[in-house]
Amino acid sequence: MGRKILYVEDNPLNMRLVRKILQNAGYKMLEAMDGLSGVEMAQNERPDLILMDINLPDIDGLAATLRIKSTPTLAHIPIIALTANTMHGDRERFMEAGCDGYIPKPIAKNELLTMVSNFLPTESYRPAAV
Ligand code: MN
Repeated sequence: MGRKILYVEDNPLNMRLVRKILQNAGYKMLEAMDGLSGVEMAQNERPDLILMDINLPDIDGLAATLRIKSTPTLAHIPIIALTANTMHGDRERFMEAGCDGYIPKPIAKNELLTMVSNFLPTESYRPAAV
């Protein structure tokens, strides 16, 4: 069974690139194009992992991450920030918001796949149903 990965991203080109990479690697990809849709989709679909763009048209990726991480049934889902904002201190901001990892844009296929497999829980790990 393919793992479900939610990508929250407003840029269609990045969405298409990541879709291609993840689907070729056998993952099932869910897509949301703004922060609130991303939070709602996380609640409805319970993905195994979330890739989070930071600059989004409504609430930003950090606010969306905070909402997901403060929801008890979702808090265990790993969230990886994807952004071109690589200014000093950004990585710390992402981690403080609850992101578990960070990938700088432009997105490199091998880096993305390595990061995703590192953060996906192993098959035997299943959080207890609430
Ligand atoms: Mn964006």
